[in-house]
Amino acid sequence: MKITILIPAYNEQDNIAPLIQALDIAKSDMPDYQWEYLFVNDGSTDGTLSILEALHNERDDVAYVDLSRNFGKENAMLAGFDYATGDAMIIMDADLQDPPSVIKDMVLKWREGYDDVYARRKSRGRESWLRKQLSLTFYRILQGSTKIDILPNVGDFRLLDRKCIEAMRKLRESGRYTKGLFTYIGFRKTAVEFDRNDRTQGKSSFNFGKLFALAMEGITSYTTAPLRLATLVGVLVSLLAFIYMVYVFVKALLFGDPVAGYPTLMTVILFLGGVQLLTIGIIGEYLARVFNEVKQRPVYFVRDYKETKKQ
Ligand code: UDP
Ligand code: MG
Repeated sequence: MKITILIPAYNEQDNIAPLIQALDIAKSDMPDYQWEYLFVNDGSTDGTLSILEALHNERDDVAYVDLSRNFGKENAMLAGFDYATGDAMIIMDADLQDPPSVIKDMVLKWREGYDDVYARRKSRGRESWLRKQLSLTFYRILQGSTKIDILPNVGDFRLLDRKCIEAMRKLRESGRYTKGLFTYIGFRKTAVEFDRNDRTQGKSSFNFGKLFALAMEGITSYTTAPLRLATLVGVLVSLLAFIYMVYVFVKALLFGDPVAGYPTLMTVILFLGGVQLLTIGIIGEYLARVFNEVKQRPVYFVRDYKETKKQ
């Protein structure tokens, strides 16, 4: 039985050595398995690639895929699914935020017959209050608008059986929200719990803008509920407008009110204009995604692939 450990790496030169060290310790507990460390170098601009080259030459269990530029973690993971050779795969961050000590629990669950063993964070490591709150709000919105469970406090850190890897490989959309896709494919899932560490070296490459983009991707690639919301708002506003119209009519006809127009007209026009722009914006978000998907561009390009040496 072979297990691939997939590690997407973007500018992680200082993290790779400690990570490999920790992984070696973790796997020494599980001698029954063959291991493959598969790195995906996601267009790093630091020394990551040369470190990977050296590792590949030194050891017979290190493979790497070198992407032609930075495609982002979601795409890098798809490259990993395509190139993994194991019967199962564990996806980990390069920065040691996902503790290798959890791997053993995952493998045990896998042997029990689970196909997708995801790690659930008991704590999230050092993170700003704002980021934590925004992240929780995002999950609440997402959860409220779809029937399929998206689990909070679960990241990409998980073990996937070959069946799941093959399923993930079939989902080749370019607007990728991998966490939603894991849920989408189904299969037998279970959780293991862990405490998330702080990043050891360097800093997170996910700033607020990137996280917001990922959240938008999550919502729009997962649910069309906002479009329905736009319809609902439209119906509601029309209804209110109709009631108000009747009110103005009755007031003018029965009570001879002279109907002072300007303020009311302004408010109604501005309000409706706002609602219309918002709705067009929502439609635009989806339209942009349709535009990107119909181009059917490959999700990543590979500059180089070095497989593990024959073990
Ligand atoms: N990563 C990547 N491509 C990117 C950004 C990040 O492959 O464009 C990798 C990164 O090297 C790390 C993982 O994705 O292994 C998680 O990134 P990071 O630690 O920056 O994210 P966070 O832990 O803050 O969510
Ligand atoms: Mg991290």
